[in-house]
Amino acid sequence: METTNVKAYGAQSKEASLEQLNIVRREVTAKDIEIEILYCGVCHSDLHTARNDWGGTVYPAVPGHEIVGKITKVGSEVTKFKVGDTAAVGCMVDSCRTCESCQHDLEQYCMTGFTGTYNGRDKHLGKQTFGGYAEKVVVDEHFVLKVPENLDLAATAPLLCAGITTWSPLRHWKVTKGSNVAVIGLGGLGHMAIKLAKALGANVTLFSRSPEKKQDAFDLGADEIVISTDKSQMSGARGKFDLIIDTVPYIHDVNHYIPTLGINGTIVLVGYLGPLDPMLNTVPMIMGRKSVAGSLIGGIAETQEMLDFCGEHNITSEIEIIKMQDINEAYERMLKSDVHYRFVIDMASLKE
Ligand SMILES: [Zn+2]
Ligand SMILES: [Zn+2]
Repeated sequence: METTNVKAYGAQSKEASLEQLNIVRREVTAKDIEIEILYCGVCHSDLHTARNDWGGTVYPAVPGHEIVGKITKVGSEVTKFKVGDTAAVGCMVDSCRTCESCQHDLEQYCMTGFTGTYNGRDKHLGKQTFGGYAEKVVVDEHFVLKVPENLDLAATAPLLCAGITTWSPLRHWKVTKGSNVAVIGLGGLGHMAIKLAKALGANVTLFSRSPEKKQDAFDLGADEIVISTDKSQMSGARGKFDLIIDTVPYIHDVNHYIPTLGINGTIVLVGYLGPLDPMLNTVPMIMGRKSVAGSLIGGIAETQEMLDFCGEHNITSEIEIIKMQDINEAYERMLKSDVHYRFVIDMASLKE
C-alpha cells in the first residue's frame, strides 16, 4: 500500500515528553479523504494514552481525536465531500460496518470494537492508528463529518469528543424543553453539557464543589448551581432531576447524587472508566425506579446531528489556543484543572 510521511507530535514511551516525529499515512484509497489538520482539541484521553495510564498504549503514540481541517484529496468513490471542504474527525476512524450496532448508526458500540483515531488498530497498514497531532490524516469518508460554515473552526474541534460525549446521553434520554438536567463537574465535558442541555430547552443545574464556579456556570447557561458538599443545598435538590450527566473523571461517590433524581431518573457516567467506590446502594434506585448508566461518545450520524445543531444554535467550546510545542505544559495544566475549558492546538505551529 502506498504511504506518505507526515510530520506529527507524539510520545516515544510512557515516561517521555511529546516531541516531533514522523509517521506514515496511507495514500487515499477509493473511499478515503485526506485532511490537512488546522486544529486539534486536547482531551484527557490524549494524556492518559500518551502516558499509558490505561495500559495498552503502542509507541510511538500520537494522540488527538478532536480534528478539524480542510480536505486536500478525495478518493475516486468519495461522494459526500470535495477538495477544499472543511471537515472534522472525532474519536473513530473505522468499524466493522456490518454488525447490529453499526447497522443502527451506533459505531461506537461496534460488536468487534471500533477503530480508535489513535492507538487503534489500523486495518489498512496493520499498525497502531495515529491521531490528530499531525499535519494530515487519511480517513474513510463514512467517518468524516461536515462542519457548519458559521462556526469558529478552532472552537469547533472539542465538539468532536467533549461535545458528542454529552450530546448522545441528552438525546438518548430525550431531553427537551422543560426537562430538568444536572451536570456534575465543570470541565471540558461539563461545560459542553451545560451549553447543549440549555440549547435543547432544559433547566440546567451544575453540581460543583467550588462556589467560585457560580458565575462561570451562569455565563455558560446554567440556571442554578448546587454546592455538592453543602448538605442543605443537596437536600433542597431531592427528587428534582430527570437526567444527571456525571463528567467526573476520577473515582467518586455516585450514591451522593442519586437522591436528587426524580422517579425514573437516570444518572449517566461519561467521564470515568473503572469500578466505583463506595459501591452503589440499590435502595434509592429501587425506591424510585432510578438508573445508573454509562455512555460512550456517539455514532457518526449522531455526531453530525450534534454539529448541525451547534451550527443552528451557534454553539462552540470555550477554548485556549496553544502551539503544538506547548503540549507538555498543557498536559500539566490539565492535571491541575487549569484550563477554561479546552486546549486546542493550532496545527500551523507544527510547521515552525
Ligand atoms: Zn476525547
Ligand atoms: Zn460493527
